[in-house]
Amino acid sequence: MADKPVKMTVNKAKIAIIQGDITRQATDAIVNAANSSLMGGGGVDGAIHRAGGPAILEECKQIVARQGRLPTGRAVITTGGNLPSRHVIHTVGPVWHGGNKGEEELLESAYRESLKVAAKNNLTSVSFPSVSTGAFGYPVELAATTAINTVLAFLRRKETSLREVVFVLFDSRTYETYAKALKEVTV
Ligand code: ADP
Repeated sequence: MADKPVKMTVNKAKIAIIQGDITRQATDAIVNAANSSLMGGGGVDGAIHRAGGPAILEECKQIVARQGRLPTGRAVITTGGNLPSRHVIHTVGPVWHGGNKGEEELLESAYRESLKVAAKNNLTSVSFPSVSTGAFGYPVELAATTAINTVLAFLRRKETSLREVVFVLFDSRTYETYAKALKEVTV
C-alpha cells in the first residue's frame, strides 16, 4: 500500500505520486485516458464519465462534431461536470504493439499536449492517471519513465501557470512503479 506521497519540485511546480481514484481529485483538471471516439469506455474513462455525469459526454460530442475523432497523442478540454475538478483533459495514449510503432513518442505527446492544454487554460494543478497501461497494454515500467520524464521536461523548459502535477495511480503495483521511477530521477 501507498505510504507517504513521493514528491519532487521543478521550477515553481511540484510533482507528486499518490495511490487513489482520480475521480476524487480536486485539482483544476484531471486527465482522462480516453479513446479517439471520445464517447467513453472502460477503465478510468468509464469511471470519469460515471462520476462526472452527462455534461462531459455532451461536450465531447460537440468536439467530435466540430473537429472529428481525437488523434492519438492529442488532447482536448471539457467541463468536469459533477467532479471535484472543474475540467477534464481528454487525451488518447497509444495502444502497445511491441514498442516499434512509435508508442514512446505518442505517449510523450499525450502527456505534453495535455500539459499544454492545461497551461493554455491557465490551470495551476492537474492530475494524470497511468495513460495507456490498462486496456492499451503499455508496459508500466516503460510508461512510468516516459510519463515522468515528459512532465519534468515540460516543467523545466519554461515557466507556466502549473504549480502541481499529480500522478494518481489506482493499484499498488502501478503506484510503486511510478514512485520508483520518480525516485530514480531524483538521484
Ligand atoms: P488505457 O486504455 O489508456 O490503457 P485504462 O483506463 O484501461 O486506460 O487504464 C489506465 C490506468 O488507469 C490503469 O492503470 C487503470 O488501473 C487506471 N484506472 C482505472 N480506474 C481508475 C481511477 N478511477 N483512477 C485512477 N486510475 C484508474
